[in-house]
Amino acid sequence: QKTPADNKTLADYRKAHLGKGMSLSYQDPIQIVRGSGPFLIDQFGALYLDTVNNVAHVGHEHPHVVKAGQEQMALLNTNTRYLHENINLLAKELLETLPPELAVVHVVNSGSEANELALRMAKVVTGNKDILASEMGYHGNTNACIEISSYKFDGKGGEGCPEHTHIFPLPDSFRGLYRGADTGEAYAKEVKKKISELQKTGRAPAAFIIEPIISCGGQIELPSGFLSRAYNDTRSAGGLCISDEVQVGCGRMGSTFWGFQLHDVIPDIVTIGKPLGNGHPVAAVVCTREVADKFANGMEYFNTFGGNPVSCAIATEVLKTVKREGLQANALAVGDYLKSGLKELAKTSSILKDIRGQGLFLGIELTDDQLKPLPEETKYLSNRMKDKGILMSIDGPDHNVLKIKPPLVFSKENAMQLLGTLSEVLKEDYLKT
Ligand code: PMP
Repeated sequence: QKTPADNKTLADYRKAHLGKGMSLSYQDPIQIVRGSGPFLIDQFGALYLDTVNNVAHVGHEHPHVVKAGQEQMALLNTNTRYLHENINLLAKELLETLPPELAVVHVVNSGSEANELALRMAKVVTGNKDILASEMGYHGNTNACIEISSYKFDGKGGEGCPEHTHIFPLPDSFRGLYRGADTGEAYAKEVKKKISELQKTGRAPAAFIIEPIISCGGQIELPSGFLSRAYNDTRSAGGLCISDEVQVGCGRMGSTFWGFQLHDVIPDIVTIGKPLGNGHPVAAVVCTREVADKFANGMEYFNTFGGNPVSCAIATEVLKTVKREGLQANALAVGDYLKSGLKELAKTSSILKDIRGQGLFLGIELTDDQLKPLPEETKYLSNRMKDKGILMSIDGPDHNVLKIKPPLVFSKENAMQLLGTLSEVLKEDYLKT
């Protein structure tokens, strides 16, 4: 076996030759060389329980997925200009999970590319240019995606809101503009206000885009009634509705396969990314037949890598594995167990102020009693959890939300380990209240 490089050598080279904007997690970064189920493994063989990786959806290096990729790689990988069964099989597997209105698939290579295509579709179909998006939303790293991602353009190095983007307030019922139960209508009115302002300038929206749980915003669950109202108002104004399912899709919500299904709406376009390839770069855009037909206006849509037989074999096997192993049901059972365990833990700690989310997509917001965010305590917790073998990530406008979005093979035992370790760290002097 090859001797692993030491962390300092890797970090020094990276500092000298890789883009400075590419951040590393943790004050003392770790080197990961293998994955297995819900675990990541460092160069010394130490196991970390991974609550961060919603990409390794069916578990790190799932043997069926690895095999599907290896076998197809040995046979053929080429572009989509030839007939090939794999792309059709993937489309079938995906469409089986969606309502019949969503009937046409484009296969792409990343979540950013999926949203980029969705935005272009909306602009071509409606003839409009303006996009409605949420405060603290993130939809990808391409130019058009950054332009609708307030998480980026309102943050460090950002250039502010572009003229064709219209940002409505983060629909956060815990610490947002409107708080408590039944805020759906009030937040939806903010979307309507943006639409009315736009109409006054003689323009109309091309699309309204949102994640069904806003991840970078800090695992913000949309208040009940918000999405259906916002969809109706967008459509009345001539716009399309895009559901960004890049983080939440493919069974993670537990009670539903897709995030939009939590809200009883049907989008015009759904974008799917991270989980679809279990780590392999494959993503998809699924839309209605009407959108697909209008988008096909004569200009060819060509994508060198999108929909290749290897990516499709992998993505098909991921979806089959979710179904075969009952991972949606596991997300529901383990997610509910974990959420109620966290709520119990919150009763014993005055800084865990809000526990939220669905299935295996949960958030823990840390504030003091006046709801002042506690980013330093959140960072301390995440670093100490890492020291004790559990990886957790942080997000939210004030960097005070711990996120839990592990591979869906996360078991009740894994959840117990997480709860036990959290409870230990919360007793440390730095966090004692
Ligand atoms: N949409 C959402 C909600 C995301 O979280 C991300 C990635 N974090 C993207 C889109 C972009 O996906 P990718 O990084 O695969 O391009």
